[in-house]
Amino acid sequence: MSTTAPITQDVLTIPRKLPDGPINLVGLTRDAMRDTLIAHGTPEKQAKMRVGQIWQWIYEKGISDFDAMTNLAKPYRAELAQHFTVARPEIVSKQVSLDGTRKYLMRIAGGHEVETVYIPEEDRGTLCISSQVGCTLTCSFCHTGTQKLVRNLTAGEIIGQVLVARDDLGEWPVPGAPKNETRLLSNIVLMGMGEPLYNFENVRDAMKIAMDPEGISLSRRRITLSTSGVVPEIARTATEIGCQLAISFHATTDEVRDKLVPINKKWNIAELLDALRTYPKLSNSERITFEYVMLKDVNDTDDDARRLIKLIKGIPAKINLIPFNEWPGSPYERSDWDRIQKFADIIYKAGYASPIRTPRGEDIMAACGQLKSATERARKSRAQIAAETGL
Ligand code: SAH
Ligand code: SF4
Repeated sequence: MSTTAPITQDVLTIPRKLPDGPINLVGLTRDAMRDTLIAHGTPEKQAKMRVGQIWQWIYEKGISDFDAMTNLAKPYRAELAQHFTVARPEIVSKQVSLDGTRKYLMRIAGGHEVETVYIPEEDRGTLCISSQVGCTLTCSFCHTGTQKLVRNLTAGEIIGQVLVARDDLGEWPVPGAPKNETRLLSNIVLMGMGEPLYNFENVRDAMKIAMDPEGISLSRRRITLSTSGVVPEIARTATEIGCQLAISFHATTDEVRDKLVPINKKWNIAELLDALRTYPKLSNSERITFEYVMLKDVNDTDDDARRLIKLIKGIPAKINLIPFNEWPGSPYERSDWDRIQKFADIIYKAGYASPIRTPRGEDIMAACGQLKSATERARKSRAQIAAETGL
């Protein structure tokens, strides 16, 4: 581990039960739901079956009213309504971009707000979800990084973003209608606000729910978790979640990465790559995505491209180039288009897929790294960021 000040994680996750309020069933694992039902009077012998029934209503049919759970006896429904709720985050605002991208601002317990983005494409629809309100890390090119961590999201608030998006897209099955093969919401990326590996358990529980075959039922191949490089938690992503992994790499020397992704001061490039070299064995050789934001005159030279290839040698990988998305006061510029293309060519010729991510929803500030809750006004100024990063 390298020197300099440690980056600490100051976590605060609110309990699922608000004082004197009903318990939210959304976000509980099957085991936790079973225990909770038993603790509130469901006979132990019936509990597993009841979980199965309730689970299908919540996650397969999108129902939140116990009264509509018609395969449960009426008195039992009333009992459930007494102790529990099926609650989702509340939509505060929704903006739709010219390209069809939808950005939702959602309110969660405590009055905090997070952003969630839906990106429609021809053959898929991707939901970009948040895992924290704000972020403890301070990547100098990221809008969320200018906002302090307020708190971790609960598993219910993480999976709740998926439920809300499906509500808004009208994607719950209509009884009797033929099954729609192409889903509007077919993929999830944990690339919204926050560092998912600093909220591991809640992210894991929520993604397990998203993958559960009797509910939302998304394949683990359609879920991608992006991390800035929390090295000790990387292996768990494969063993405990099993989803795809993306790494916010962004620089090819420690000197530059220290400035762009300050967690590099804690776990540097060599340590990160070591963790990634053992990762494919855990995840059946699936490729790791290396995200690389293209910042003019900072990390976009031919030498950078060549160094990148050298560094990742031996790791099954694809490299996703992200043209920098500007935000008010951002201290960088996007690399010129032909520079990005040249960078991509070098990588492609070395045998790696090197797609350039098309910025989506720019007109509504919904593109990568532009998210930030409107209520959080602790934005640092451009000068402050420059002073801290030295760039
Ligand atoms: N905290 C996680 C996931 C959220 S950020 C992480 O850092 O990986 C999702 C991706 O968007 C990351 O690769 C991040 O580096 C990138 N990003 C952040 N700000 C950006 C910006 N302004 N323009 C382009 N990409 C950005
Ligand atoms: Fe946090 Fe990711 Fe933004 Fe860095 S890029 S500040 S880790 S959300």
